[in-house]
Amino acid sequence: TPLSSIRNFSIIAHIDHGKSTLADRLIQACGALSEREMTNQVLDNMDIERERGITIKAQTVRLSYPAKDGKTYVLNLMDTPGHVDFAYEVSRSLAACEGSLLVVDASQGVEAQTLANVYQALEANHEIVPILNKVDLPAAEPERVKQQIEDVVGIPADDAVMISAKTGLNIEGVLEALVTRLPPPVGDADAPLKALLVDSWYDAYLGVVILVRIKEGRLKRHAKIRMMAKGSVHNVEQVGVFSPAMRPVEDLGPGEMGYITAAMKTVADCNVGDTITEDRRPATEPLAGFKPSVPVVWCGLFPIDADDFEKLRESLGKLRLNDASFHFEAETSAALGFGFRCGFLGLLHLEIIQERLSREFDLNLIATAPSVVYRLYKTNGVMEELHNPADMPDPVHIDRIEEPWIKATIMVPDDYLGSILTLCSERRGQQTDLTYVGGRAMAVYRLPLNEVVFDFYDRLKSVSRGYASFDYQMDGYEESDLVRISILVNQEPVDALSFVAHRSAAEARGRAICGKLKDLIPRQLFKIAVQAAIGGRVIARETIGAMSKDVTAKCYGGDISRKRKLLEKQKEGKKRMRQFGKVEIPQTAFLAALKMD
Ligand code: GDP
Ligand code: MG
Repeated sequence: TPLSSIRNFSIIAHIDHGKSTLADRLIQACGALSEREMTNQVLDNMDIERERGITIKAQTVRLSYPAKDGKTYVLNLMDTPGHVDFAYEVSRSLAACEGSLLVVDASQGVEAQTLANVYQALEANHEIVPILNKVDLPAAEPERVKQQIEDVVGIPADDAVMISAKTGLNIEGVLEALVTRLPPPVGDADAPLKALLVDSWYDAYLGVVILVRIKEGRLKRHAKIRMMAKGSVHNVEQVGVFSPAMRPVEDLGPGEMGYITAAMKTVADCNVGDTITEDRRPATEPLAGFKPSVPVVWCGLFPIDADDFEKLRESLGKLRLNDASFHFEAETSAALGFGFRCGFLGLLHLEIIQERLSREFDLNLIATAPSVVYRLYKTNGVMEELHNPADMPDPVHIDRIEEPWIKATIMVPDDYLGSILTLCSERRGQQTDLTYVGGRAMAVYRLPLNEVVFDFYDRLKSVSRGYASFDYQMDGYEESDLVRISILVNQEPVDALSFVAHRSAAEARGRAICGKLKDLIPRQLFKIAVQAAIGGRVIARETIGAMSKDVTAKCYGGDISRKRKLLEKQKEGKKRMRQFGKVEIPQTAFLAALKMD
């Protein structure tokens, strides 16, 4: 295919503005799938994605479009995830394209992720075509939204394409805009091979599949390729394109997107952003790479049934094959037993992994409270990253602690602005910008990430009745007055419940947990103290009174079978008891304590 008849593009949009529906329509209009094969939202192919209506893994599809100018074009569509946690995946999809379709719901207007995505597309030097979707809705206000795109986003919207992805109205207008308004790719077919490694995943039949965008040269079947960053060498077995099913081809040239397989067992050699070149005639310089994705939120995952530990290890390993941004290492907890400390890109990522573990691998798990990564500067001059509050060294060894901050953009109707500002300042936020556009406000805040992983998103949605949209990016580390709060039962620390908080919030949160545990821990033969402490200093305390009589006394003596049942139940419960000093506490109490909030 000559370069002049290739267009590589992404679709970017705020969640629910119709990106997947538009992708479906484009695939359908180009006849890539028959009516029968066409299930809704072909590109969202994981169950969870489909159910939640979000796109996690970027997907690609090659379309063939006979345009009005008489030429037939190859259109490569890269789907991108719409959620903030996956901003990294968005940026790598964008790097493989020359242009973006910016989909805006004409009844909603510009939202926080619309902006975040546009900024990323501009950074990738994209030509952007605005698309006003859902014009079939009575509430659509295309003229107002056009103005908003110009004012807020800052790109011309006069010739925005007006469509309804749902009814199929003016899909042809989108296809024509793609070929007339987006630039073709550039690249020299005779130069040494330079292919961008866009993504990789594990396929049960093919092994590791690598998604590539060829920048220079040609990538042929049976070629010997070299990963420039890793230095590893592999023999290419299959070269192909997604149409949208995988279809083998002889080779891929400049400007083209496709996949290769090379009999690899793990994705470990396939660093996203790496440059693939040919071993016998390597390129001298690699392509500009990506920033690696680093987990920003960590939590412990423990099997509720201790026998599931090995199964959990195996399942985590399988998930990791397809998701290099997910990390795990073994962890032991006195309260919860053997488990894993796991790192995620954000809270949604955490939730999705947890859900996949329970759904696809049938595992019953408990997660400890999510924690961000703190930087500890110790008195011996060493800096240490803290992923687990339980690992915090004695405060006397710590010189100072830094925590990660984010820059958050919140868009909200004026009516709810007051409560949003209150929420942000309660969470130690610093306002950096506040602007009004057509009944909506845009607030830009710097916030400590630690305050955001603690139910911020839910609170934002509830105080704005679901109308606020939110997006963020990491914004460096800053020193802060942070303390580790330990929870002690009968003077023994319960590792799984310890957490890090700003000193100003420590007492209130400590008191809340002690209050909960008081209700959850069954009475014993003697009094038990439940305490929250910073170092050796107790900041909150509750006392569980001693049990007065034998529990079986409650059964009015008469009913023997009921008494026996109760005793058996107690025996059953004993199996999952955890020892704290001379106190035995059922694991269920910790599970319940962790579940709340
Ligand atoms: P995404 O999150 O951006 O991928 O959005 P989806 O494509 O999943 O669409 C979100 C919702 O909007 C779905 O319920 C779609 O059926 C609906 N939708 C998409 N396009 C249109 C449209 O043009 N008109 C109407 N009325 N609804 C649409
Ligand atoms: Mg979608």
